[in-house]
Amino acid sequence: MRLTVLGSAAGAPTRTNPASGYLVEHGETSMWMDCGTGTFMELAARVDPGTLDAVVISHVHVDHCSDLFGLFGYLAYGRSGTVPIKVFVPTGATDRFADFAGATGEHVFFHVFDFIEVDDGDVAQVGEIQLSFTGLKHAVPNNAVRLDADGRTLVYSGDCGLGRGIMEIADGADLFLCEATMIGERTAQTYEFHLTAGEAGRIAAWGGAGRLVLTHVSHLVDVDEAIAEASERFEGPVTYAAPGSEFDV
Ligand SMILES: [Zn+2]
Repeated sequence: MRLTVLGSAAGAPTRTNPASGYLVEHGETSMWMDCGTGTFMELAARVDPGTLDAVVISHVHVDHCSDLFGLFGYLAYGRSGTVPIKVFVPTGATDRFADFAGATGEHVFFHVFDFIEVDDGDVAQVGEIQLSFTGLKHAVPNNAVRLDADGRTLVYSGDCGLGRGIMEIADGADLFLCEATMIGERTAQTYEFHLTAGEAGRIAAWGGAGRLVLTHVSHLVDVDEAIAEASERFEGPVTYAAPGSEFDV
């Protein structure tokens, strides 16, 4: 599989980094994983969005899903593509997207998108890639996703805090793409729905990941400090998910 970082900014896009979004490609299969603000244009600069096999949205926060409406416009009112495209979303997300689009009944929104609501333990096959979902602790329902193809494994955390599931999720991952919004030791005041870079490192070590890629690093955090903190806990390679960077898994 090839992972391309379309954007990795936490919360808000910046001039040089869209919010969270990734392109995953393997053979003839391509997938857009999180549709953060600004990532549709980065996606369209690399592939024809009408040829995507699936979209995966970890959770319904704007920095992970707002550009789904860019794809909607592209497919419904711009250049066409192969529709409907499967869109894997957390439970309850379909109605929220449809509400925003004003979509009911036979609306074109449901002609271009085939929403599939997934939850903890669900598995799906998209082309040559198998997807396995794990529900993780966040302010809204968040699914981490494990992608398996040809004996290789890519795991993406979405946004999450410490809790059930996260410690096992990197198990056997060749590449663990993990949120690391913060740095420093966790205290009673630390925000409970995000991870520190040190925690990302600890999870990668626990699961025996091949490499760790830190993403969703806050603009308040120095990236080099985040890498250093994660490297104290994880002996394998640690990289920042810089926009435009590519990883072969
Ligand atoms: Zn986020």
